[in-house]
Amino acid sequence: MVAVLGLGVVPADTPILRADDLGALRGDGIFETMHVRASRAALLDEHLDRMTVSAQRLDLTPPPRADLADLVSATAAAWPADQEGMLRLVLTRGAETPPGPPTVFATVTAVPDSMRQARTAGVALLTASLGLPADLRRGAPWLLGGAKTLSYAVNMASQRWALSVGADDVLWVSADGYALEAPTSTLVWLEGTVLHGVPSARTGILAGTTARWLLDHAGKLGWTTAERMVTPGELATGDGVWLTSSVRGPAPVRTLDGTPMPYSADDTERIRALLGFS
Ligand code: PLP
Repeated sequence: MVAVLGLGVVPADTPILRADDLGALRGDGIFETMHVRASRAALLDEHLDRMTVSAQRLDLTPPPRADLADLVSATAAAWPADQEGMLRLVLTRGAETPPGPPTVFATVTAVPDSMRQARTAGVALLTASLGLPADLRRGAPWLLGGAKTLSYAVNMASQRWALSVGADDVLWVSADGYALEAPTSTLVWLEGTVLHGVPSARTGILAGTTARWLLDHAGKLGWTTAERMVTPGELATGDGVWLTSSVRGPAPVRTLDGTPMPYSADDTERIRALLGFS
């Protein structure tokens, strides 16, 4: 399903980009991916907040927030209520010559079975270096830390590499040995009754909306929360490790570089239920 700002839902084969759109030519733009359930986009406000941050970091001028919210809501409303959907809201820098207004559109596709299964089956991760010290992006705005840009070729290549060597996904690590995030998800881990996340402002990882919501509501599971830097080795000594993202939801990490991670089916189930995933 495809929808365009100002037009609403259009036939999926409608041409909506010029050949010189800078989103297509340079990956110069931003996006958000949301989970659609019961024909509504989950955490819409949080995603629009993050899109505002991404736009500021790329010096993009988005259309009014209410127009983006209307586009998402109308698109989600047209998706079957009994089917989970993956909605992408895309905003590019627009045409190159003459410079155009941003191109804005949304797409929805069905959530793949493999993503739904990972919520219970879990994932096997491999560490992969990003080559940057953990604190570098904080003082390097040109690296666009914390912005969800369309430049995801490295993210996708990381996941293809993991699949090519028999794993499910990667955990990016910094040059100085800290765990950061996965190419499309956020790392959270449990130590005793404290649920942890990696600080996003310090490291330039994407501030995950799912992890934020989980940490903000972890009290309902009897847990407190903290943010800190962590090494892959430390993750093995805790009480549980998960990747969280809007569409896959929470996926327990079963192995990291072949080492079994602490795992509780009960905690995994409680997190999944709290986040509202089936
Ligand atoms: N980190 C990266 C690089 C991502 O692309 C995503 C997914 O969009 C996430 C983390 C998880 O963020 P969210 O929970 O908002 O989907």
